[in-house]
Amino acid sequence: MTSVPNVTLNNDVTMPQLGFGVFQVPDEETTAAVATALDAGYRSIDTAAVYGNERGVGKALAASGIPREELFVTTKLWNDDQGRDKAAAAFDASLDRLGLDHVDLYLIHWPTPARDLYRQTYRELERILAGGRTRAIGVSNFTAAHLEQLIADTGVVPAVNQVELHPGLQQKELRAFHAEHGIATEAWSPLAQGAVLGDEVIADIAQAHGATPAQVVLRWHLQIGNIVIPKSVTPDRIRQNLDVFGFDLTDTELTALAGLDRDLRTGPDPDTFN
Ligand code: NDP
Repeated sequence: MTSVPNVTLNNDVTMPQLGFGVFQVPDEETTAAVATALDAGYRSIDTAAVYGNERGVGKALAASGIPREELFVTTKLWNDDQGRDKAAAAFDASLDRLGLDHVDLYLIHWPTPARDLYRQTYRELERILAGGRTRAIGVSNFTAAHLEQLIADTGVVPAVNQVELHPGLQQKELRAFHAEHGIATEAWSPLAQGAVLGDEVIADIAQAHGATPAQVVLRWHLQIGNIVIPKSVTPDRIRQNLDVFGFDLTDTELTALAGLDRDLRTGPDPDTFN
C-alpha cells in the first residue's frame, strides 16, 4: 500500500502530505467515498461543518476499524459560528457529528474580515487545543495581511493555512510568507476542480511520465512542499490520486509548470467573502 510522507507542523504534530477532500459530496455518498479512500490507503480526511457531511465521514471512519491514531481528521468552523461562544458550541457539534472525541486539525474556514471576529475566534480555538480536543489548529483562506494581524494580536502562529492553490493560482508570495513563519501550506482545489487538467503543458509532462494530468498536478504540489487534499467520488480517480509517489518531475518540468500561474480563482476572494 502507498505510504504517504508526513509533514511536521509547527507544534510537532505530523500530518500526511496527501489527504482526501469531501467538499460538495452529499452526506449519503460521503461514507462510500471515504471508505474507498481509506481502503486505497488515504489516512487524512478533510471535511467542514458547512459541507454537511461530517456524519458521513464519521460513519466511514468508524466502520473502517482503522486505529484512531493512524487517522488524521480535519474539520472547519463555519463563518456564522465565529465568535467565542458560538465557536465553542460549533466545535462540540462537529465532534458529535463525526463521532470522535478529538480531531487532528481544526481550522477557521474563512477570515470574513467584515465581521472582524477571527482573532477572538482563534482564541477559542486555542482553548480547544489546550483542552486536547484537537491536536492542532489553523486557518483557511487567510491572506498574509490577515495572518499578520492574527499573529500580532494572539502571538500564536497557526499550524496550517489552507488556501486555494493549483497551477493556475500558485500563491507564490503567500507560500513565501508561510515558509518564513513556519506555517504549513495546504492546497484546496489542488486540481482547480478539473480546470487545469486540459492544459497542454500538463498533458505533455503527463505523457512523458506515463501518468495522468491529475497525477502530474498532485506531484507538482508535493514537490513544492504543499499538503494536498484532492476530492473525487470516482473510485478509479480516488486510487489514481494517491498513486503519485512513483515518479519525480524534473527541474525543467517544474519550471514549465511554474509558468502556468495566471490568477485563476475557482472560489471566492478571501478579502471580500463574508
Ligand atoms: P479538486 O481540485 O480536488 O477537484 C475535484 C474535481 O476534480 C472533481 O470534479 C473530481 O471529479 C475531479 N477529479 C478528481 N480527481 C480527478 C482525476 N484523477 N482526473 C480527473 N478529474 C479528477 O477540488 P475541490 O474543490 O473538491 O478541492 C479539494 C478539497 O479541498 C475539497 O474537497 C475540500 O476538502 C477542500 N476545499 C476547501 C475549501 C476551503 O475553503 N477551505 C474550499 C474548497 C475545497 P469526481 O469527483 O467526479 O471524480
